[in-house]
Amino acid sequence: MPQNILVTGGAGFIGSSLTEQLLVQGYNVTIVDNFDLFYDRKIKENNIRGFIANPAAKFIEADIRNQLVLEQLLQDVNIDVIIHLAAKAGIRPSIENPVGYQEVNVMGTQHLLEIARKKNIKQFVFASSSSVYGVNENTPWSENDYILKPISPYASTKVSGELLGHVYSHLFGIRFLALRFFTVYGPRQRPDLAIHKFASAILSGTPITMFGDGSTRRDYTYIDDIVDGIIGAINYNQTMYEIVNLGNSQMVSLAEMINVLEEVFEKKAIINQGAEQAGDVPVTFADTAKAQKLLNYIAKTGFRDGILKFKNWMMNPEKN
Ligand code: NAD
Repeated sequence: MPQNILVTGGAGFIGSSLTEQLLVQGYNVTIVDNFDLFYDRKIKENNIRGFIANPAAKFIEADIRNQLVLEQLLQDVNIDVIIHLAAKAGIRPSIENPVGYQEVNVMGTQHLLEIARKKNIKQFVFASSSSVYGVNENTPWSENDYILKPISPYASTKVSGELLGHVYSHLFGIRFLALRFFTVYGPRQRPDLAIHKFASAILSGTPITMFGDGSTRRDYTYIDDIVDGIIGAINYNQTMYEIVNLGNSQMVSLAEMINVLEEVFEKKAIINQGAEQAGDVPVTFADTAKAQKLLNYIAKTGFRDGILKFKNWMMNPEKN
């Protein structure tokens, strides 16, 4: 059983939720994060507040773009599995800053793979994304679908990460699992993501911009399900290279999503319609049969229930 886990991006939305659960389950967790300015550092400090003093957790503030410093900082740290979540996230900002995305998401991933090689760490779990599927009409999306036509810099960095992982797995015997997350939501969700942004706007009575006519559809996945899937990947010990979808296998249109938010938050949204956004895909929809087979993964949280939990978090002033 792996015991010592390195979580990169552990102060972020998914990373902090994962770390919390790993600590509950008795793992030792080392967290690396640089509090990237993509969103407010205070939010991330708040994310880790509940576990930063836990003796089984070690927090290292460091930038994955600097391999040498990272190597030194991790020199005496025991690591069985790397969960590599640190990244510049978000599709639209990647169009503004493609080089920055490449540096963190591709070079940064290679640095972590180098650390795995040098420290003889034999398991690596990589946060990939549904965006690698690009515009794929062949729903639900299966891991065998063609993915070499990404439509945003962000998506292309995730394809690159999957490819780099194959090289290191093949050459150095590192078991590599790329988990393709489908729009994750729930407590601590990134403030730039639609559900969080819209909920804040509904609460404050400010208008939301709905890109397109509301018909784009997303497979929204609740954070606890994603965390279960990642923990499944930590304990996976069969084949050496796998790509696995982690989704909910349910599509929700943008208009439906806004409706559910209005119902749950008991307040009408003020909607402005905007143009469809470059880099956005019309639909995302995961086939999760492989996740179920390999990782015992079953998404348990329906969309409305997940939004209710998200609301409870939003409304709780002590939230972290
Ligand atoms: P997040 O921004 O909340 O977390 C990412 C963390 O990485 C942040 O805390 C950030 O400070 C850190 N980071 C960024 N650059 C870094 C650097 N150079 N060095 C060290 N740390 C750095 O995002 P998230 O939503 O929790 O996403 C986690 C991972 O999952 C990312 O790889 C993202 O691409 C992937 N993903 C997320 C979703 C989603 O819906 N949230 C969907 C698909 C894939």
